[in-house]
Amino acid sequence: MGRGKLGMGIEMSGGELFVVSAPSGAGKTTLCRQVCRLTQGLVYSVSHTTRAPRPGEEDGRDYFFVSEEIFRKMAENGEFLEWAKLYNNMYGTSRAWVLEQLQQGNDVIMDVDIQGARQIRAGDLPCHLIFVLPPSWDTLRLRLANRGTDSRQEVELRLGWAEKELQVWEMFDYLIVNDELKEAVEELRSVVMAQRCRKERRGQWVRSHWKVLIPGGR
Ligand code: ADP
Ligand code: 5GP
Repeated sequence: MGRGKLGMGIEMSGGELFVVSAPSGAGKTTLCRQVCRLTQGLVYSVSHTTRAPRPGEEDGRDYFFVSEEIFRKMAENGEFLEWAKLYNNMYGTSRAWVLEQLQQGNDVIMDVDIQGARQIRAGDLPCHLIFVLPPSWDTLRLRLANRGTDSRQEVELRLGWAEKELQVWEMFDYLIVNDELKEAVEELRSVVMAQRCRKERRGQWVRSHWKVLIPGGR
């Protein structure tokens, strides 16, 4: 992933964008949350959605829950970096928030469907696309059922979408199989940490701390 100009003429200085997609129930929310807790300077992008909150979900923490009217206005005003309609609901990522975090030097991790991942890749923000797969079809069905947040009909709808979503795994840069949660968390975190060690990013620190590398400096 190269450095360069972000949208709106902003020069990218530090943070990078990690886009995580997976069929619903594969565990991407669980993974993203755990990796953020373990990793300083990695922030989770809270999306806007028109779907109703599930029991236990909090506005501003899990999603910004908005009406369809507000969502449409935001989309018309170009406030979303990407947005998509799925399962009869709309989901979108705040452009301003993501750009601000990246400018501050934070890495941003976001959990979006494959339409969202496609839009981000087609845009002018450098990004890393990560796909999370469940270990098997039966496990996916079981996780969706055990999560206990969706009706049987909703679970079937999500499984139907999952079949299509799994077909596009090759568009992603990284593949994580979420079987053992601890291992999957480690793998996702490794993807983030590896980018931080790249010379394009760490080189600036090396140049400023190792004066001996500058002719005549020490
Ligand atoms: P998604 O965000 O992809 O829809 P979630 O993170 O909500 O998926 O996970 C779906 C369900 O599976 C949740 O109940 C979660 O606790 C559980 N889960 C996630 N990862 C694992 C795992 N590796 N092993 C067992 N259960 C898991
Ligand atoms: P859920 O309703 O289970 O929370 O999420 C359903 C789907 O919406 C998941 O595949 C999730 O990745 C996706 N999603 C959540 N936020 C966004 C977003 O901001 N943009 C897009 N395109 N998809 C999102």
